[in-house]
Parts: sequence; C-alpha cells; structure tokens
Amino acid sequence: MIDPSTGFTKMDMVRYYAKVGPLMLQHLKARPVALVRAPGGVPGELFFQKHQEAEALPGMRSLDPALDEGHAPLLEVVSPQGLRSGSQMNVIEYHTWNALKDRMERPDRLTFDLDPGEGVAWADVREGTRLLRVLLQGLGLPAFLKTSGGKGLHVVVPLKRLRDWDTVKDFSRAIVLHLAETIPQRFVAKSGPRNRVGRIFVDYLRNGRGATTVSAWSARARPGMGVSVPVGWEELDALTSAAHWNVRNIDARLGVGNGPWQAYEEAAVSLTPAMKALGFRPG
Ligand code: ATP
Ligand code: MN
Repeated sequence: MIDPSTGFTKMDMVRYYAKVGPLMLQHLKARPVALVRAPGGVPGELFFQKHQEAEALPGMRSLDPALDEGHAPLLEVVSPQGLRSGSQMNVIEYHTWNALKDRMERPDRLTFDLDPGEGVAWADVREGTRLLRVLLQGLGLPAFLKTSGGKGLHVVVPLKRLRDWDTVKDFSRAIVLHLAETIPQRFVAKSGPRNRVGRIFVDYLRNGRGATTVSAWSARARPGMGVSVPVGWEELDALTSAAHWNVRNIDARLGVGNGPWQAYEEAAVSLTPAMKALGFRPG
C-alpha cells in the first residue's frame, strides 16, 4: 500500500509509470534526477536521493562523477525500465536539474515555483501565475506552465545554454523581486510562512546549481497523489487545483500529453535582452 487515502499500491505505481513513461522520459532525458523514495508509502518518512547509492539500477545510468565532485555519481533515468526500477525501490517522485548532462555549467531553463501562502484562494494563484506570465512576456521570455501536483504551479522558461548558474539565479531573483515590488498585494519575495500569508511566494532558489524541481508527469508523495502536468495557458482558468490531475484521473490527460509544451524546444532564448529590459547587470 502506497497511499491509503486512495488505496494506491506499489503495483499501481508500476502501472502508472508504465503509462506516463513515454511522455515523462522526454522531460527526464539527459538530465540529472533526484528521487523521492517512500519505503513506508505516502504516510511514512520520505528520503530524497540525489546520488547513486549502490550499482546503477536497470534503466538508470550514473553520470560522470566529475559533474558533482565529492559525491557518488548523479543519476539519469534513461528508459521505461528505469521507472520500473524506481518503483521497485519505492521511488514516488522524480525531480530534475535545470541543466543537461553534456553542459552542466550552463543551465537550459529557469523555473519559477509559485507557492501560495496561507489564505490564498486558488483563483488568486491563477491570477498571480498570469501576472508572472505578463511580466515574462514583457521581458521577451517564453513561459511554459505545469501543475506541481501539490499546492502551486511551476512556470518554466527555456534558455539557450549561454550563462552560468550564478548569473541565471541572480537574474531570476531580480525578476521575482521586481514582481514583489510591483505587485506587493499579491507577491512576496521573502520566504517564511509569516511573510506569505495571503500572498504568493515565487521561489527563485530553484534556479541554483544542484536545485531540482519535480518533473512533469511525476506523481507526488502526498495523499491523493497529484501529478505534475504540462498545461496550456488557455487552460489555466479551467484548472481546479495544482493537483487537478492525479494518479487516478490521469488517463483522460494522456492524449493531450506534452502537446501544450510542443513549442518548448524551439522557444529557448538568450537572457541578454531580458536583462537589459530589467536593467540587470550580471555580476
Ligand atoms: P508545491 O506545489 O506543493 O509547492 P513543489 O513541487 O513546488 O510542490 P516541494 O515538493 O515542496 O515543492 O519541493 C520543494 C523543493 O525541495 C524542490 O526543489 C524539491 O526538488 C526539493 N525537495 C523535495 N523533497 C525533498 C526532500 N525530501 N529533501 C530535500 N529536498 C526536497
Ligand atoms: Mn512549489
């Protein structure tokens, strides 16, 4: 039994990842992955695993140890078999880096994690997400949306691999600060639950080296087991929650698949014009 609230079992997990595997592998491909393991199921203790422990499991590959000096190798899921191996070792969630293994020091995306504080209605999360999109559009940055499967939404900006981690992180911080300064009624840049009451915290720390965010199509280790799903901007208004899709109702979404992110690859941009537009000077 993995999730007593839904009766979801380990075998269900294997079947779930067999179903979403082809869609999910496009998001896992060539990216270091971190695993959230739940040997006691959703109610039990969760273990976050960023490095290989024993031998690489079937369908998982260990990456060049030089990519993360001083640790066991980072991991990559390379095939549907890797997802089966994961389920066998009680992996529920798969989180990925913002970089590809062949150029690890040049991130290929920005991730904005919108976390609603206490008392933020779902309609306000949708509005806040739209506002972030407007800002990004104004900066000439393409933005792709996905549910987190948990409480909030994730907005992803595909990047040409030109800048280093610090520059990308510092600039994402500048974007979030600008948002919080411009619309303080809705946004807060400071973390901490008390700062967040009634407002949305946009976490830019997802953009540092080694930081990870849950992959599209990953199930979540939370009661009800939401799923992170790519959505089109025109679908935002119809979303009922960040866990709109879960392991039980996902079948209806498989046909749409990664369609909403179809333009993702070709959309990658340089950050230079956006930096100029915001008056940001890379350090
Ligand atoms: P929500 O929409 O509910 O905020 P989320 O996916 O945005 O969901 P979390 O699941 O809370 O956020 O993850 C927060 C961050 O911590 C992510 O960067 C994630 O990769 C990382 N993370 C998740 N679980 C662990 C863990 N057990 N230990 C360390 N880091 C973790
Ligand atoms: Mn979040």
